[in-house]
Amino acid sequence: MRKRRLETALLASPHAMRAAAANMVAFRLDRMRRRGEAYRQGLSLIDDYHSAEPESFRRRQGERLQEFLDQTAGEVPYYRDRPTGRGTDAFESLASWPLLSKADARGAGQGLFHPRLLKKRHYVGHTSGSTGTPFSFRLSFESLRLRFGLRDAFYLLHGFDFEELNVRLGGRLFIPAERSRPPFWLRDRFANQLMFSIYHLGGRADADFIEALERHDASFITGYPSSIHLLARACERLGSSFRPRGVFSDSETVHDFQRDRVRNVWGCEIHDSYGLEVGWVAGQCRLGAYHVSPLTSVVEILAENGEPAPPGEVGEIVVTDMTNLLMPLVRYRTGDVGAWSSSPCDCGWNTPSLAFIQGRIDDVVLLPDGRKVGRLDHIFKLAKCIKEAQIIQETPSDFAILVVPEDGYGPDEERDILNEARKRLGSATRIKIREVPQIPRTARGKFRSVISKVRPSD
Ligand SMILES: [Zn+2]
Repeated sequence: MRKRRLETALLASPHAMRAAAANMVAFRLDRMRRRGEAYRQGLSLIDDYHSAEPESFRRRQGERLQEFLDQTAGEVPYYRDRPTGRGTDAFESLASWPLLSKADARGAGQGLFHPRLLKKRHYVGHTSGSTGTPFSFRLSFESLRLRFGLRDAFYLLHGFDFEELNVRLGGRLFIPAERSRPPFWLRDRFANQLMFSIYHLGGRADADFIEALERHDASFITGYPSSIHLLARACERLGSSFRPRGVFSDSETVHDFQRDRVRNVWGCEIHDSYGLEVGWVAGQCRLGAYHVSPLTSVVEILAENGEPAPPGEVGEIVVTDMTNLLMPLVRYRTGDVGAWSSSPCDCGWNTPSLAFIQGRIDDVVLLPDGRKVGRLDHIFKLAKCIKEAQIIQETPSDFAILVVPEDGYGPDEERDILNEARKRLGSATRIKIREVPQIPRTARGKFRSVISKVRPSD
């Protein structure tokens, strides 16, 4: 609460004061994150995954998991009160534990905290989640540092020193929405980061953002793929010569049209990281597969019947984060859908990988004829003159497609979108296209490509 009041007070203060305050916060965070044994451990993990044999991870993962489950079952009230089995090995034990949804975790309240570790200083984070349901989580400093080490190692793997100047396009609100003249960004001198206000992207401020990009010549860009896409689009539209050397996305599902835009405009690939409240869970290698981190978490992909989905088949991603005994999330239902790769990856990173992450379970719509349809972003594959779009299922058979048009948008594009939508949603549905000036974000500034008002979502 105190943090929220501080945020509000800072939004109302002059820009120089906001910048100074942001740097104070950054200094503290940087000191807290990038130090200690846990950070160094995280930093060396991806190297380990390249040099050691896959079987050795499996064994070490099993040992860590058993220890983590034993401590959780013995100390954490929520699990003490629930039947949790023990199998012949750690993985079999894990399979007998209940799944944990975000609603379960919220409902558990204090019961999900390790009583002794709760008394030590720790980090409290908040997330709106992609569904807008607020959720706060607690991390031990060790867990936080390990995560940062792992993330920095991921940048290093792709040839980026995290100390090089980078641009961050994240959900933090630090520039008042009504501000109409630059700067629309803050410089964080400790993380060497230029934080762009994504709430000002895609409009009149674009020229100022580009001027800042060119002047600072940032090395790489990180953040929400929807915002990265808007920035690439702005560079294209305004003919900017700026080229980042790399792009790292997180927090939202990356769509093909976003990857295409970045490739075409900036000439580089998006390296996506996958993680939620449960930290850094997987990251894309140079060949595009999402490699997991067996020494920090256990990833399961479960089919609808609750059984493990075989490679190549989609299922819900369920994660056990072994780094945070303070608030153990065991078999945490992420609400995201993905599939294991069918064959080992040739990139040299010796851990299992997901072939793709398809999006949220909520992005799949249920039609009156009983069909479930996902990957709806493909409806826009032919539309070149839209800035962004959102599909809303109003009733089981009524759909609204919100489109933010750009120069060149007209009846032809509209017809293409309608045709593509019909192919997927069938002829029994009613589909209306509405042109809108912008598409609202969630409380944390995340973009949702599909909203269904039919199925209540958690
Ligand atoms: Zn790979």
